[in-house]
Amino acid sequence: MPVTKYIFISGGVLSSLGKGIATASLGLLLKQRGFSVTALKFDPYINVDPGTMNPYQHGEVYVTDDGAETDLDLGHYERFIGITTSRLNNTTTGQVYYEVIQRERKGYYLGKTVQVIPHITDEIKRRMTIFDGQYDIVLVEIGGTVGDIESLPFLEAARQLCLERGSQNTLNIHLTYVPYIRSAGELKTKPTQHSVKTLMESGIRPDILLCRTEQRLSRDVRAKIALFCNVEEEAVIEALDVECVYEVPQLFARRGLDAIVLRKLGLQGKPLRMEWWNRFVQRIKSPKHAVTIALVGKYTQYQDSYKSILEALTHAGAVTNTRVQLRWINAEELNFNGTLHNPLEDVDGILVAPGFGARGVEGKIAAAHYARVHNIPYLGICLGMQCAVIEFARNVCGLPQAHSSEFARTPYPVIDLLPEQQKVKAKGGTMRLGAYPCVVRRGTHAWKAYRQELIYERHRHRYELNPEFLPLLQQHGLVVSGTSPDGRLVEIVELAGHRWFVGVQFHPEFKSRVPNGHPLFVHFIRAALRYHRERLAQAHALPSTS
Ligand code: GLN
Repeated sequence: MPVTKYIFISGGVLSSLGKGIATASLGLLLKQRGFSVTALKFDPYINVDPGTMNPYQHGEVYVTDDGAETDLDLGHYERFIGITTSRLNNTTTGQVYYEVIQRERKGYYLGKTVQVIPHITDEIKRRMTIFDGQYDIVLVEIGGTVGDIESLPFLEAARQLCLERGSQNTLNIHLTYVPYIRSAGELKTKPTQHSVKTLMESGIRPDILLCRTEQRLSRDVRAKIALFCNVEEEAVIEALDVECVYEVPQLFARRGLDAIVLRKLGLQGKPLRMEWWNRFVQRIKSPKHAVTIALVGKYTQYQDSYKSILEALTHAGAVTNTRVQLRWINAEELNFNGTLHNPLEDVDGILVAPGFGARGVEGKIAAAHYARVHNIPYLGICLGMQCAVIEFARNVCGLPQAHSSEFARTPYPVIDLLPEQQKVKAKGGTMRLGAYPCVVRRGTHAWKAYRQELIYERHRHRYELNPEFLPLLQQHGLVVSGTSPDGRLVEIVELAGHRWFVGVQFHPEFKSRVPNGHPLFVHFIRAALRYHRERLAQAHALPSTS
């Protein structure tokens, strides 16, 4: 059993500095050095999980195989480190308090006053060490920014663990910001100094500083930060802005982050091999081809809402040597009547995003319609699949009032709650969540992509294709290319005679990894590429009209 080493990653100065990417990148480097690694995320909010939060509040909700609704940083961990996470990898303040209060009610603390220290911090420590002995290294990312009231118990738990486990077995990394003041032409170290000071008030002395910056840090600046923050100069690591997040591991490797971490933890490790990763990044940065994909969704202002979809498209682009240019289309504004310009007219593929609530649904249905009648490659994810089915029922099967019972009372609820969801009252954690098996039908587009009979994909939805309408839909040409093994739940649909039109009830984006991507996204981009080329060829073949 390995003696597990713990690396705590905290952040300072401001949020959104990329702590999740930094954690995932370090995880990848340590894995490449030959260690077994996992990563945990601790979130300071009181919601039990982000499942009930609006994407504008939280960004994407990342779903794990075991059906936990978690922070999107777990997506970075899975994609970068290539691990499969579970509900044990994400803890919120809400979960910690929930657990402690339940224990109190059961009488576990009889006679005692239940307090933040030690009861809350003990529960945090239990969760931080939940994989003790199972991995060589556990990365513990502490959400929020040092100085936030909410993060204090997490930092206190980390401090105690450092003391208990000793300096050979624990390490503290702090991510800060070194702003460049243009008018003065200078990088400023003061915010970093203050941030480290705040961290030290919690009793944590950083071993390594990752300094996020838009300009190179000179030797002098690094020396100054080292001196004022009481950190070795070589452990002041520049984290320069990069074009694409997959470059961050390369950047850290060039600055020797893995070597410093291993030295401080007294570990040896094998030499770092990153060729496969470098090739992947190279293909993202200078691909041969390009396609334009319309992403039809509601949260087009806030790209974190569709994080895994964007990453899956990037991966598919790397696999197919294609730059995937996105055209963001707000589903609420998509209405072809009376608009001069149709934003879907010249795209190579249409992706209709998942979602909840009636807002924007008619726009999504219109997008599915446009893709169907114009033979444009279409990928509908979850609600995007449901909208395609509604569109098909309305316009092909002759049921103009067809809808999902999520959005309207209708005589034709082609998308509906099945009995298991009808009795559900509480909203938190009660959808169909996590990995479910799906049997893929041979000879379909889905089969061509997966080339596998039995697949597992992750779900997050309440509504399903209503089996009552299935015979009618199928009679009119809807192809069911994937179902649950008992055949009851429809998981994948496509259209006969269309170049590539696939709707999936699950979320394939959560399983797209470096370097192979996800087969459905890869095949979607390939279809878009073929369509793009066909249109180009046609345009050249047309006689000139001028
Ligand atoms: N709102 C739909 C449902 O609950 C789709 C959910 C989704 O797109 N993830 O079934």
